[in-house]
Amino acid sequence: MPKYIDAEAQIAMLREKIKVCDDLISRRDGPCYHDESDKIDALNDRALAYEEAITMLESAPAADVAEVVHGHWIGTVWDGYAGGNPVYGQFECSVCGYEHAGEKGTLTDYCPECGSRMDEPSGNSEHLDGKDEDNANRI
Ligand SMILES: [Zn+2]
Repeated sequence: MPKYIDAEAQIAMLREKIKVCDDLISRRDGPCYHDESDKIDALNDRALAYEEAITMLESAPAADVAEVVHGHWIGTVWDGYAGGNPVYGQFECSVCGYEHAGEKGTLTDYCPECGSRMDEPSGNSEHLDGKDEDNANRI
């Protein structure tokens, strides 16, 4: 199974490694009691290898994939309690606001409107931060 990566993040990490090499070279370059040329050459070789990796990443073909959007269902219409837990008769998608009429058992793993994967962990909802959504409940 292919593994998709964030090429921009990898390139940024490689550029940081090149910067570290350059810093180490600049510290060793100049008048010194010891001959540091071997170490400087090794650091230059390492920096060149990182540059080659960057070139490879920049020229790699992009895969035909879409970023996964994560969301969660928010209970919007309170319908009483069952076993001490609130029961809702209507939910909305935290990403697009799509309204789903039905109880928790009828919810889908993906929003049928925007396609978001409804697996977002609890505690990240902007909706729940608002004071006007007293009945809102994350599922
Ligand atoms: Zn949605």
